[in-house]
Amino acid sequence: MNDMSGFRAFGAPRKNRPLGESIRRGLLGRCPACGRGRLFRAYLRLEPNCKVCGENLSHARADDAPAYLTMLIVCHLTGAGVLMSDDAWPGTSLMVTIVIWLAFAAAVSLLILPRMKGAVVGQQWALYMHGFGGDET
Ligand SMILES: [Zn+2]
Repeated sequence: MNDMSGFRAFGAPRKNRPLGESIRRGLLGRCPACGRGRLFRAYLRLEPNCKVCGENLSHARADDAPAYLTMLIVCHLTGAGVLMSDDAWPGTSLMVTIVIWLAFAAAVSLLILPRMKGAVVGQQWALYMHGFGGDET
């Protein structure tokens, strides 16, 4: 049967997309397809389409994954920092330690959250998830 719908025929092979390269492009805030267009319109809002290659980016469903990955990294860094700060600066008051490491955690979280979202979108694009392959699944 002739496929006039524009969708890939069931069972037809797909072109492999480079997973690592797509995640790296997302980490840098670039389109996972071409690596040149911007991925984000605002802090966490994605462009609906890549301005360079036209890739439809509206299929991204990052949900809680970027926040989870951000917390995973930030909590490990902050926890290690809190534990090491007592040895590095003995005699520092508990309040000063808390304020410093809370500020560190907040700053690093704000810095890496969009990068984690970009990486998740890059992974989804490379694996044809959520309609990135033309299927609406
Ligand atoms: Zn692009």
